[in-house]
Amino acid sequence: MIASGNQTASGAQRFKPGPFVHYVYEDAAYVDIGAHVFPVDKYRLTGRWLREELFVPPDRMHGWLPVNDEQLERVHTPGYLRDLREARSSWATLSSELPVTRSVIDGFRAMVGGSVAAATLAIRHGVGFHVGGGFHHAFPDHAEGFCYLHDVAIAIEQLRADGECERVLVVDTDVHQGNGTAIIYAQDADTFTYSIHQENNYPVKQRSDLDRGLDDGIEDEAYLEHLQRDLVAIAERFEPDFVAYVAGVDPHRDDQLGGLALTDEGLGRRDRLVFDRYVGAGIPVGVFLAGGYAPSADATARLHLGTAMAAEDACERALRDLQPPS
Ligand SMILES: [Zn+2]
Repeated sequence: MIASGNQTASGAQRFKPGPFVHYVYEDAAYVDIGAHVFPVDKYRLTGRWLREELFVPPDRMHGWLPVNDEQLERVHTPGYLRDLREARSSWATLSSELPVTRSVIDGFRAMVGGSVAAATLAIRHGVGFHVGGGFHHAFPDHAEGFCYLHDVAIAIEQLRADGECERVLVVDTDVHQGNGTAIIYAQDADTFTYSIHQENNYPVKQRSDLDRGLDDGIEDEAYLEHLQRDLVAIAERFEPDFVAYVAGVDPHRDDQLGGLALTDEGLGRRDRLVFDRYVGAGIPVGVFLAGGYAPSADATARLHLGTAMAAEDACERALRDLQPPS
């Protein structure tokens, strides 16, 4: 059962007639970056399978929202944004591990609009699931890893600007620490940053409000125990009115860039732990795919689809709990 501070057991009533998962997907999420470990094809595959296998109806599939400079400036510095606009090779852009080209940067900028849309849909319907996003290594003033723009923080700040939420919890289960998120919100008492990751892996660690750096090779049971305990501990310290779930699937045992050893089932249980706790309590959850580097784009997309299935299940359970007993 759900236990979370200010929420009632029937908190799901906030989302009438939901909660439901609403998705944000665009074919244009595919940006050609050439031969690269980052499997851009995973977006297209996940989007297709949502329709063909999960039978998500068109009224629960949405497009990106347009993004303006003001939104980006809430998180990023003017100098860095100028470099990005001009696709200029500089210290700030060359720290990325992706090509510094206009089409790649435009793709990132557009994708920010997907995360903003997903966050907005979460407030309205319970879960907003972006088939993209989760670029948690981007810093205010420079790129890192495969991340140019911190779409999650930009989406959170948009919700705040719209008066939709104040207290935000970031639950980051990507195998790599959410270092950009930790830096962006280091001084913000209204944002609680939690990262559970592999300690001996990229990046250089920053300080989140709660970091759980795991030993190499950790398997399902140990991982889930840590996660469960941490989520309970967080609930005692912080009551969110929005949760940003950075749901990287790179803790999987077959991942090429991760050194943890979760199974398909373990990842599914991880997702359920997160969704049941917050969706069941009526707290809106925005989902951002983040990392995943299984041996093929197909295998990676399968794992991301698993996160969508867990979100659907959590909504179904929350709806069932609302039905009066017959
Ligand atoms: Zn990652």
